[in-house]
Amino acid sequence: MTEPTTMLPTLEMIRAGDFPMNNIRLEKHAPATPTNLGSGWVILAAVVCLFSPEFLSAGELSVVPQPVRQQVTSGSFLLTPGCRIEADSAFAPEAGLLKEQLARATGLTLATGSSGKAPAGIIRLVKEQDTNVSPEGYTLVVTPERITIRAGAAAGVFYGGQTLLQLLPPESFSSKVFPGVKWQIPGVNITDQPRFQWRGLMLDCSRTFQSVAYLHQTIDRMAVYKLNVLHLHLTDDQGWRLEIKAFPELTRKGAFFPARYGEPPSHQGFYTQAQMRELVNYAAARHITIVPEIEMPGHSLDALAGYPELSCTGGPFEIFPFFKGPSVNVNVFCAGNDATFEFIDQVLAEVADIFPGSYIHIGGDEVPKTAWHACAKCQARMKAEGLKDEEELQSYFIRRVEKLVEKHGKRLIGWDEILQGGLAPNATVMSWRGVKGGTAAARAGHEVVMSPTGYCYFDYAQSTTDSARVFSFDPVAGIPPGAARHVLGLQANFWSHIDREPERVDRQLYPRLLAIAERGWSPDNRGEWPDYLRRARAQLPRLARLGIHYHPSDLADKVGEWDPGSFAAGATNLEFDVPPQLAAAGELLAMPVYARGSHGVYLHAAELLQDRQVVAGDRHEGFTGTRPTNEIYILRLPDKPSGGGYRLRLSLEPAGGTNTWGKVLLAPSTARLSRESLPVGKSTGQ
Ligand SMILES: [Zn+2]
Repeated sequence: MTEPTTMLPTLEMIRAGDFPMNNIRLEKHAPATPTNLGSGWVILAAVVCLFSPEFLSAGELSVVPQPVRQQVTSGSFLLTPGCRIEADSAFAPEAGLLKEQLARATGLTLATGSSGKAPAGIIRLVKEQDTNVSPEGYTLVVTPERITIRAGAAAGVFYGGQTLLQLLPPESFSSKVFPGVKWQIPGVNITDQPRFQWRGLMLDCSRTFQSVAYLHQTIDRMAVYKLNVLHLHLTDDQGWRLEIKAFPELTRKGAFFPARYGEPPSHQGFYTQAQMRELVNYAAARHITIVPEIEMPGHSLDALAGYPELSCTGGPFEIFPFFKGPSVNVNVFCAGNDATFEFIDQVLAEVADIFPGSYIHIGGDEVPKTAWHACAKCQARMKAEGLKDEEELQSYFIRRVEKLVEKHGKRLIGWDEILQGGLAPNATVMSWRGVKGGTAAARAGHEVVMSPTGYCYFDYAQSTTDSARVFSFDPVAGIPPGAARHVLGLQANFWSHIDREPERVDRQLYPRLLAIAERGWSPDNRGEWPDYLRRARAQLPRLARLGIHYHPSDLADKVGEWDPGSFAAGATNLEFDVPPQLAAAGELLAMPVYARGSHGVYLHAAELLQDRQVVAGDRHEGFTGTRPTNEIYILRLPDKPSGGGYRLRLSLEPAGGTNTWGKVLLAPSTARLSRESLPVGKSTGQ
């Protein structure tokens, strides 16, 4: 939302040194009730069960988000071709999905059915009859003979299945069959339910169009970590992305930049209603609700490009790429013109028909009041309605839109600026400018989703908002219990004006999105960062198998620093000790990370030394600065590390001057990463 005033760096800027850090714009929380999961089953079962002498402790499980209660029991369940999935009929779709997910990497196509019998070697999905059970809660019991997932509702059984998948080896997350893996699941007894009902991710599809394929992938990845709201920012000054049949000019003029900007075709376009309906169904099957956002009254140049008569001045207008003009446009919907509200009414009618969820997000943020101030119609409206200033006119606008939203059977949610001039009666607030607005709204009895920039904005660099910081955020901290019950949950927001390609979006989202999942689902465990770090690191191989170009820096250890005094002229070798605990990993990811100063640093190579001998190396060109590129070096440790400590040697070269400070990070990994799986970060600065 509030957008950086910094320019997108050009290649010249990268070569010359550096540029300012990017600073970016900026179903209701059921209080956790004790789950009483009784009897009901979703079961997947294996015919052959091996007893394994392994003794795992609960401290060795690495499920993210952390389940409420988990206990490791003896033995393990082995998934084999003879296993069956037995599901109560209500859970047939979830059984089908689980079967599909299990088949992908294991190659095992398990038979499914609902015979009601429970022979050994089965996975049972059982419906609880107790209506007190949280609809997203479940129990998961794994014994050598069978796996039983019990839940009161389909969402719960689905989440039990997701936990089950995390208990399998990481290869189970591959989309290709992985031969030669023993598909073993440790014996466990897990009781689980979410702390918050809104566990969201906002993806900005307007500044940069995101492909339908990437949205499908995003849904798959969210489901793994039990995130349940995908908020799509579908309209903004840079593009109208949803087909509206009543107003074809929205996508004809509003979805494509004028040719002179030379924007790549992949950054533009729109979703047809048929595509969006398919996506909604795909998400729903994974228990994810898509919340559409249609921005108003500001951030609406995309609409005004096609329908300039809805502005205060009459236009004409055309859309432009984000860094090619003001980040907040002064041209907004005219609040004095009834045609504006008739237009919005028809748009909302189509939107309400496509998206079955209960909310429509109407934006409402960053509305410049200059056009309204100078507009005769807007001023006449203020006079007629007795509004004392443009802030109250904004409030009038949102209240009137709320009536339209409700007419179409939906609830209004908007950014916290909708508090300005008085909040619409039933509005839900998404608090992004810190938590103050959200707290005030919750105290006034409005429902709230917390997504403050300081913790939840994932277009910000990992160096300012890392996993540890996200993990430290509690959506209800400091809010009195009476008001806290209005906090539905939290959400990560990603704006696509700087990082635009899927690989770059990935590196901004992962792995820190897992910390959002943890905060949204698990009991408050903010004091247990070391355990989270262990679990999150254990997820990295899974992220790699999911094809995610994650960025590991925020789960890494700092092994050293550089400052202006570290460099001689030209390329300089710097050496750092590798802590012994890191030397146990299969491979190390070395990352030189710029922190401050006017110059970035070119990266030439990383090597691992033992007794002055090079035992591993990765030589490629990279850059670290505010737009890092290819800055991750993969160092594969020898199979049998022997004695002596390792040292890390980096070949670095300051870019254009030595005014630079940075840190050297090392992260252990067992993902057997390839360069292709890393966030390569093609420079998008041209
Ligand atoms: Zn006006």
